[in-house]
Amino acid sequence: MPEIPEIHSLARQMEQVLPGKQLQSVDIKGEKCLNLPPEAFRAAVCGQVIRSVSSHGKWIIWQCDSEDRLLLNLNMGGETVFYPEPGEPRKGWRLQLHFTDGSRLSIGFWWLGYFHFVPAGQTHPMADGLGVDVLSGDFTPQWLRETLKAKKKAVKSVLLDQRVMAGIGNYYIHDILFLAGIHPLRQADSLSAAECARLYETIRSRLEGAEALRGAAYERDLYDQPGGFAGDVIAYQEGRPCPRCGTPIEKIQTGSNAGYICPHCQRQKGGRNGSKRAVGTGKKGAGNPGVSQGT
Ligand SMILES: [Zn+2]
Repeated sequence: MPEIPEIHSLARQMEQVLPGKQLQSVDIKGEKCLNLPPEAFRAAVCGQVIRSVSSHGKWIIWQCDSEDRLLLNLNMGGETVFYPEPGEPRKGWRLQLHFTDGSRLSIGFWWLGYFHFVPAGQTHPMADGLGVDVLSGDFTPQWLRETLKAKKKAVKSVLLDQRVMAGIGNYYIHDILFLAGIHPLRQADSLSAAECARLYETIRSRLEGAEALRGAAYERDLYDQPGGFAGDVIAYQEGRPCPRCGTPIEKIQTGSNAGYICPHCQRQKGGRNGSKRAVGTGKKGAGNPGVSQGT
């Protein structure tokens, strides 16, 4: 699944090539990824000139000269490939955008993705409801500390909540928490200032490092090339020795999904019963007797 390193990287590549291009026509095979019926979508987007490209969380935003926006979200993954010249469509394409200069963009989704038209002055319920982008200047150590202090939920579920902070997903989260030495089920408001600072540094360095390599090796960039980041530490390494202490990596239930931890390097502090199998932490007020609920 593409996360913020892949999306930022893709948006940066688009920003180098798309501004100034005018959309001439759109071939549509994946109607479900649109927010308008195909004919209405074509009428809305054909003739638009792209002014700039940016991203917020996992959304790529094309700002048009008309002030309308086009929003792309690859959701579970996909390929967005640019071709400078006309030619055969890429296998698995769902949308093909043709520009007036003969270049084109082929978009394919592994699962349902989104390509939405937003008229000038209107908001988008998903893209405009996102929290702070974790690679933006708004994401600061102080902001993270204050945000975590206000949450009586598992730290992992806060980090993954796109309405709070946008961009971290289920691939990078495991190693971020391991490298910061924080158990995913720790209550967010129980983290010390030093732990918050370490978590901030880890999020930044991990995601910026991956972005510099154009993202994960299993994703494709705008020119159909794989990313260069393949630096998993403990993610998806159940049973293998922890690179720091040698303890076998465990796969645990964290709310509705799985987490990978080193039970020695990532302690669930505050727990009197030492339970590593606590569940339901994604729900407000969910019972987790091993963790202090604070005051
Ligand atoms: Zn360890």
